[in-house]
Amino acid sequence: MLVAYDPIYAHPLPEGHRFPMVKYELIPAQLLREGVITDKQVHTPAPLDEATILLTHTPGYWYKLQHQTLSDKEQRRIGLPQSPALTLREIVICQGTIDCALHALNYGVGLNVAGGTHHAFADHGEGFCLLNDFAIASNYLLQQKLVKQVLVIDLDVHQGNGTAALFAGRPDVYTFSMHGAHNYPFHKEISDWDVPLPDGMNDSDYLRTLRDCLPVLINKVKPDFVFYLSGVDILQTDRYGKLKVTPQGCRERDELVFQTLKQHSIPCAVAMGGGYSTHIRDIVNAHCNTFRAAAEILG
Ligand SMILES: [Zn+2]
Repeated sequence: MLVAYDPIYAHPLPEGHRFPMVKYELIPAQLLREGVITDKQVHTPAPLDEATILLTHTPGYWYKLQHQTLSDKEQRRIGLPQSPALTLREIVICQGTIDCALHALNYGVGLNVAGGTHHAFADHGEGFCLLNDFAIASNYLLQQKLVKQVLVIDLDVHQGNGTAALFAGRPDVYTFSMHGAHNYPFHKEISDWDVPLPDGMNDSDYLRTLRDCLPVLINKVKPDFVFYLSGVDILQTDRYGKLKVTPQGCRERDELVFQTLKQHSIPCAVAMGGGYSTHIRDIVNAHCNTFRAAAEILG
């Protein structure tokens, strides 16, 4: 198991945007302290190259990110002020997801401490996402002919609208999103399979829904690679999530996904996505559970 992490994930953000970004430092520290991972498993990604970015994003949008020429409106839509450091951070995160995927192809699983930037479209960013790491990594693996059929399992509480739009009409990448029906983004894109969830959903209903979907997905799509977005904004403690999933339920969600992938011997890259509980320890603990479950089930 490989863990992609760079201190840059947390640091280049301006003061007002540091919470909950501090999780990117706390997650690897916690995992190392517990012995879930060793130093040798922590990998620092390099910045992603331009040719790979342009497999997914438009040259015009990439130019704006490189030269800080996004309009005020475009920056507001992203929710972060543009800076060279922010762009650098994003391309390091995206390379981290590619590195996790390449590792997973050989050893089963790789997890990015950051990533899951599923609100980024080809030509614009939204919701704290500049570039779409799962789309970039999917297009890279397909272009390199390392995989034939990708499945994106997006269990962040927010719909993977950017990913859905990027892969609309693309049979080689199947997009599955299970998300709060009444949550951001309020205009939803159409994934290959969307499962909108009612407000207040509890553990048993959430897990039953997922348990029903997973075998259908695997049989229908027959993926040779999975990207899993394990957002912990499904927690009842989340400020924006609107669901009532407990930390134990969230962990069982991760276990369900990993057990299904193990059963079918499908390699998997994981990115953390959102998590906005009031107390940072709830966020960090739930994300750490994803790593713990991956280590136990997929090694
Ligand atoms: Zn989210």
